[in-house]
Amino acid sequence: MPRRFPRVPDTREDVRGRYAAGMPLPDSTVRLLERMPKAELHLHLDGSLRIDTAIEIARSRGVDAPLTWHGMSGVLVGPPRSADQAALLGAFDLPIALMQDAEALERITAELVEDKAADNVRYVEIRWDPLLHVGGGLPLAEGIEAVVAGAERAARATGTAVRLTCTAIRSHEPEANARLAETAARFRDRGLSGWDYAGQEARYPDPRVARRAFDAARAGGLHITLHAGEWGGAPQVRRALEMDPERIAHGPGTADDAALMAELRTRGICLDLCPTSNAQAMIVPSVAAHPLARLHRAGVPVTLSTDDLTVSDLTLSEEYRNVVERTGLTLPELWAIDRFALDVAFAEEATLAPLRAQFAAWGAGIHELTAE
Ligand SMILES: [Zn+2]
Repeated sequence: MPRRFPRVPDTREDVRGRYAAGMPLPDSTVRLLERMPKAELHLHLDGSLRIDTAIEIARSRGVDAPLTWHGMSGVLVGPPRSADQAALLGAFDLPIALMQDAEALERITAELVEDKAADNVRYVEIRWDPLLHVGGGLPLAEGIEAVVAGAERAARATGTAVRLTCTAIRSHEPEANARLAETAARFRDRGLSGWDYAGQEARYPDPRVARRAFDAARAGGLHITLHAGEWGGAPQVRRALEMDPERIAHGPGTADDAALMAELRTRGICLDLCPTSNAQAMIVPSVAAHPLARLHRAGVPVTLSTDDLTVSDLTLSEEYRNVVERTGLTLPELWAIDRFALDVAFAEEATLAPLRAQFAAWGAGIHELTAE
């Protein structure tokens, strides 16, 4: 039986109550979604700490934080609704304070892979900003090395394939982000395959200020993605396109702009969507109102992820259930989106082809996944 991530009952019920819009799925379907092999492309390391681990690290490093499970979860789990994206980002302050040495980074990365493997996520991309973890004196390359080592160890132990993405933060100086890209690219042969750009979008709306960092990442062989549309809707997604990404993190506002949808379709640029997280940040009014199904049916490439295991208190199986229960996405559509993630993943064919075959073999003969 896969290990269950510890839950926060009060918050969870609140989320369920506020977001409930459809009929609950039968238990047999819930179990099917748990067993389903899954691929997750949009997941932040610092939003995904185990509560027990956070308490242990706070205690051993003398970090000022609640030392009870309830107290710690109250800080690390984001509220069901925040005022906006910037407010939800406050949930990352304590995790970052706890992740300032190599041992903590290595452990937290490995545990996240273990938790994803227990949820039958067979391919996962984990992203983080190494520059946020050097405040305690940890050299940048050593911090990256620790995350790489944790990912490698847990991938071997669980069989889940892992790739890492380096996330630059909008508020950093462009020069610092450019140096980060150069350092990150040195780890390309060890599974660090992606480059991302994230952070407070309303305050730092224009990704072009980081063009040199994007150029350095591309020159270093990294795949390009960036966050967009957590504020500002479709125009922010258009702005992101100027960086020529392969994928965009979020961007649900694309659904309001038919020409933009057509452009993403034509260019094959994928949106890595996270409905519950978007509802938490008030980017969409509710999971039920999220345009995932509409975008998919319009032929826009999309994948489905949680964004954060702990901040959203959410497994990927639960998010799969949420979208089927609340957005009207059918099981065959969900299964197609799940497998499609392996077509846009930032990994090489030698890793992805066997995973595609495993997924197909698992789904063969399961009537609910193929019947229209
Ligand atoms: Zn994200």
